[in-house]
Amino acid sequence: MKKDQLFTRRRVLIAGAGAVGAAGTAAALGLGGGDEAAAPHTLPAAGPQARPALKPSAYRLQPLTGYGPPRSTPGRTVVRHEPFLRMSGRGRTMVLTFDDGPDPRYTPHILDTLAEYDVRATFFVCGEQADWNRDLLGRMADEGHVVGNHTWSHPLLTRLTRSRIRSEMERTSDVIEEAYGERPQWFRAPYGAWNRAAFQLGAELGMEPLAWTVDTLDWTTPGTRTIVHRVEEGAAPGVVVLSHDAGGDRSQSVRALKDYLPQLLDSGYHMTVPTRRYA
Ligand SMILES: [Zn+2]
Repeated sequence: MKKDQLFTRRRVLIAGAGAVGAAGTAAALGLGGGDEAAAPHTLPAAGPQARPALKPSAYRLQPLTGYGPPRSTPGRTVVRHEPFLRMSGRGRTMVLTFDDGPDPRYTPHILDTLAEYDVRATFFVCGEQADWNRDLLGRMADEGHVVGNHTWSHPLLTRLTRSRIRSEMERTSDVIEEAYGERPQWFRAPYGAWNRAAFQLGAELGMEPLAWTVDTLDWTTPGTRTIVHRVEEGAAPGVVVLSHDAGGDRSQSVRALKDYLPQLLDSGYHMTVPTRRYA
């Protein structure tokens, strides 16, 4: 999104920290390599969506996408108090994620590369992009990719009212359902700025929060080689990689994928998508 350029990460973190600090329930999470891993989170409040709280320390040992407690029955999603940052460590698996799209200038090239290597990825789309690129969501469905909800207009959720957040998320899930064929099961907050309302509303809409482990910072257009280097340096079992297929000139991101994807596969990594499993 163009709006990405309006906020530096530092400014976003300051804004988010202020919002959470006011509530007095800041719980920073220091896992992973991205700045957003330290984005503040709040604990869920008591209410209809509340579940018995897990100790953060116990929770942190099981930040597995789709595995481990808390278990739930299909159709109900627990309210998290922090996003998943990585996958469970079954073998050398990694997850590639692309945010802010789709963009007809870049997304088709990324899909072509993924198809060339028979690899599935996850696209956190914005509703206002998806709305006029429904054919690309259809292609994602046809080719086995996962589509997640990245809000309609990519706002900083910590500055929005609860009803605006709900609208941002709900409209996006609606357009995804129409174009992709299923409602999204994963949600990612713009700028990695999560708050309690985002977790609660995401759960109400049946979505789990997924952040990332390795941030390529590709939106700063640091050069294709730098993006490739960041992915290869960060590669490890369970790692979730953040890149972008929209929001500016993403030709570096497109070229980088062509470079690091075959190298990761040659190194024995298996690219997968997040799955939700229920007992
Ligand atoms: Zn984004």
